[in-house]
Amino acid sequence: MSGSELRPLGLFGGTFDPIHHGHLRLAESARESLGLARVRFIPAGQPPHRASPGAQPTDRLAMARLATADHPDFEVDPAEVEAACASYTILSLERLRTERGPAQPLVLLLGVDAFLGLASWKRWEEILDITHLAVANRPGYPLDPARMPAPLAQQFAARQAGPKALAHAPGGRIVPFTMQPLAISATEIRHLRHTGHSLRYLLPVPVIDYISQHQLYL
Ligand code: ATP
Repeated sequence: MSGSELRPLGLFGGTFDPIHHGHLRLAESARESLGLARVRFIPAGQPPHRASPGAQPTDRLAMARLATADHPDFEVDPAEVEAACASYTILSLERLRTERGPAQPLVLLLGVDAFLGLASWKRWEEILDITHLAVANRPGYPLDPARMPAPLAQQFAARQAGPKALAHAPGGRIVPFTMQPLAISATEIRHLRHTGHSLRYLLPVPVIDYISQHQLYL
């Protein structure tokens, strides 16, 4: 196996309801600053942690594909949307670990808000062993151990590392990284649409066109 095949692979799960420039910029910043070979977006099927999303899983998948189509190093994984069962990150990580082999560095990308909730995820401590985590700043959510549940703060203290650590192990580290702060959320986009406002410049034009053609979030 050549060295280039072992460059870390970024994995970016989310509801993406809809995908927006906060997501895309997070992925691009991670790709560049963490030296990722590619970023794989994994839209959730039936998210276990939240109420039903506004758009159907197949629409969220289609929008993720439209949003990433022009980036040569971005790809979209339909497995969670196509699975009949509820989406759990650990199950996707186990699938990808089997697919990519034990040596491949995997890096799960998260915003701070998602990271702060990690201890409520199914088998969350196993997630920390099977993959690295890379945590992006998000306006309104400081990465402050005092705001983490104690077990998560302990894991953060023990595993925190810089970007160079990612290529040296298949998983196990937690790496904070910075992106241009973008106070964009899917919740606000759905609200803007619902109240008849423009979505322009918050998300890619093909996604805005898809929302309008399919009459989503009305
Ligand atoms: P919602 O408002 O519906 O909860 P969201 O905008 O937070 O949606 P998700 O699909 O839930 O989007 O988020 C997927 C991942 O992207 C999470 O890890 C989240 O922290 C991260 N993320 C989303 N928006 C931003 C942003 N503007 N800046 C940094 N991270 C973000």
